[in-house]
Amino acid sequence: MSNCIFCKIAEGTIPSKKIYEDEDLVAFHDLNPQAPAHFLVIPKKHISTIMDAQQSDIQLLGKLLYTAQSLAAKLGYEQTGARFVINCKDDGGQTVHHLHVHVLAGRAMDWPPG
Ligand code: AMP
Ligand code: ZN
Repeated sequence: MSNCIFCKIAEGTIPSKKIYEDEDLVAFHDLNPQAPAHFLVIPKKHISTIMDAQQSDIQLLGKLLYTAQSLAAKLGYEQTGARFVINCKDDGGQTVHHLHVHVLAGRAMDWPPG
């Protein structure tokens, strides 16, 4: 999508601190980290929100989550854990309308969210 900042990151036309890339996904550090480790994993395909995902996206969604956890493990958080978050639309606090999984790690997280 032409006006989407995460599509531009996926294409490489906007810079990011990428930590992983394959034919379907990109992972990069969040610009405004909320934990010692905070990165985002996105599909290269533009899907605005998790609620816009289609049945045909099931394999991609599985890969998105699997990659998020394996990157967290690779970065050393397998024992201590991490928070995996998908914000959706206004009430979910979504600000960038391209599906992304937040991975936050390196400190204990509060629950419930504010
Ligand atoms: P959300 O509120 O779930 O939509 O999260 C969007 C996240 O994207 C926020 O944590 C922002 O800090 C992050 N963000 C926005 N623009 C960029 C960018 N250019 N590079 C990296 N992270 C970004
Ligand atoms: Zn997009």
